[in-house]
Amino acid sequence: MNLFDLTGKVALVTGGNGGIGLGMAEGMAACGAAIVISGRNAEKARGALDALRAHGVKAAFLPADVTKKAEGEKLVTETEAQFGRLDILVNNAGTAIRKMPQDYTEAEWHEVLDTNLTSAFLLSQAAYHAMKRAGGGKMINIGSMMSMFGAPYAAPYGSSKGGIVQMTRALATAWAPDNIQVNAVLPGWIDTDLTRRARQQVAGLHERVAARTPAARWGTPGDMAGIAAFLASPASDFVTGAAIPVDGGFSVGM
Ligand code: NDP
Repeated sequence: MNLFDLTGKVALVTGGNGGIGLGMAEGMAACGAAIVISGRNAEKARGALDALRAHGVKAAFLPADVTKKAEGEKLVTETEAQFGRLDILVNNAGTAIRKMPQDYTEAEWHEVLDTNLTSAFLLSQAAYHAMKRAGGGKMINIGSMMSMFGAPYAAPYGSSKGGIVQMTRALATAWAPDNIQVNAVLPGWIDTDLTRRARQQVAGLHERVAARTPAARWGTPGDMAGIAAFLASPASDFVTGAAIPVDGGFSVGM
């Protein structure tokens, strides 16, 4: 038995058209899963689809803004219509607005919370019914080091990522009887569009992260492939409600 075999499974990855989402999608594609990636930028998705199909699996891009409930629900129904089922959901789409707490507008607070947390909850609700029909499933929610640590410039982001962990625990306990495992992944500092922007805004960030990370480097999207394969596969059937750092040791170093 291959514990990591995902042949015949269908995964939906929000924000799977780049960065961490694509790294995780590639990990599951390498194990044989068909992949639906979603996002707003179709241009970016073209290269992502080529990378996924190179693993010999079916892959499609479905455009959606996850902050719009109806578009999220349509993602699930379209995935089932095009691929016949939905077994794995990765709630990865995310955004950050970096400011001191006193400077955020209410709209900026809601933009971050809606994108990072509310969308994950609504998509999980929509996917629950599809997974129940399929006899079980896997949900993987993307948290952050900010799920654990505080930072002055991350009040809404940290709130959303802390919320991801508690939401994961609640859904895991609710849906365990339906054979649906729900886990969170807490990436350390990974080189993506999101953190490239942060490195432009914060002088010395690149060096500080590398110095504080026991692995002595930034992560890459490829570093996220293995945890996705594990949490999507039968290898993790008794793992639920966990929040697993993938951070080169950042969260345990001095
Ligand atoms: P990217 O900016 O590369 O990826 C973010 C993705 O989210 C994009 O593909 C984007 O797609 C999608 N997205 C954003 N808003 C929406 C929306 N409203 N509707 C649909 N899709 C949306 O950054 P990362 O890969 O770094 O981020 C992925 C996740 O990982 C996020 O949740 C982030 O918070 C988290 N994370 C990242 C870390 C890092 O160090 N990079 C560390 C910890 C957590 P499009 O461009 O098409 O809109």
